[in-house]
Amino acid sequence: MTVTTPELELETDRLFRALLHVDCEPGRRWDLAACRRIAPLTLEINRLKREKNAVILTHSYVEPEIIYGVGDFKGDSYHLSLMARDAQARVIVFAGVVFMAETAKILSPHATVVVPDRQSGCSLADSITGRQLQELKALYPEAAVVCYINSTAEVKAESDVCVTSGNVYDIIARLPQRQILFVPDRLMAENVRSELHRRGVDKEIISSDGTCIVHDQFTVADIVAARARFPGLKVVAHPECPPEVAAAADFVGSTGAMMKYVKTTAAPYFLMLTECGLVGRLQVETPEKHFIGGCRLCPYMKLNSLEKIRDALTHPRPDQIVTLDEDLRRRAARSIERMFELTPQG
Ligand code: SF4
Repeated sequence: MTVTTPELELETDRLFRALLHVDCEPGRRWDLAACRRIAPLTLEINRLKREKNAVILTHSYVEPEIIYGVGDFKGDSYHLSLMARDAQARVIVFAGVVFMAETAKILSPHATVVVPDRQSGCSLADSITGRQLQELKALYPEAAVVCYINSTAEVKAESDVCVTSGNVYDIIARLPQRQILFVPDRLMAENVRSELHRRGVDKEIISSDGTCIVHDQFTVADIVAARARFPGLKVVAHPECPPEVAAAADFVGSTGAMMKYVKTTAAPYFLMLTECGLVGRLQVETPEKHFIGGCRLCPYMKLNSLEKIRDALTHPRPDQIVTLDEDLRRRAARSIERMFELTPQG
């Protein structure tokens, strides 16, 4: 592709304005030189998108140059899948991890869904197979089977209803069954147990043994040390964190709820107990707020890169294309549709 100097300068300027509050590498902000380096690639990707009627969905945990350089939509896996369904694109590139791209394929079966890197798994989603869930279901035949959206299509297909970290409490509370088999997140199950107890909802929650390798590492000691150094600090945690960490935080919520909390809360400092990508988004969208270190990187999310996105758009390899058996896709779609039905509106 031939790129003229004015085009490059315009793109460099666009990138710089989008990224100037974000770290390019630890301790170093994006500057004009760094933006100029990636500008040819973002121009090429944005051109390929138009040619191929493609959209790029970017999870909040991928690198900011992907989110703000080439992304059409940004957010958590649930909202991105809805955006994919509604965008009616011919090609969907999901810059996130494989289970998210599967969810997009479940909801947009006619689109070609591609992932930049097939190795972008997830410790939670990959902790249980459809077969293992069938075996668990046999042990608890009376239980409603609830899967967190961070699960494979196989696991969704075996579940009665899918949930997100935003609607999990309300949906479980609405289910008629008292016994709930919740997969795959053991720590979120513990947090759900506590929250439902606090709400006076009587449920027995049985869980499988998965954890998120990012969120399961936070400790109460991290919070105590940070509060001692930064008076007035607000600690914001995701419900994939251990329950004792959630209990010690000022706020616990989904990615979207965490962002809303930060945007609407006056505090001198915030400690975000989640993946660092969310801090990058907050640095862009709330440059006046101060975030102290402490977030952690998800190695799977960081497998995404501009180069891999370009390649997946140009000539996707078979391993980059998400395919699902149609019967499995339909069964998985039912658990997601049930979530829509049970999600309180408004
Ligand atoms: S942050 Fe955790 S839940 Fe999200 S993709 Fe990475 S391992 Fe999976």
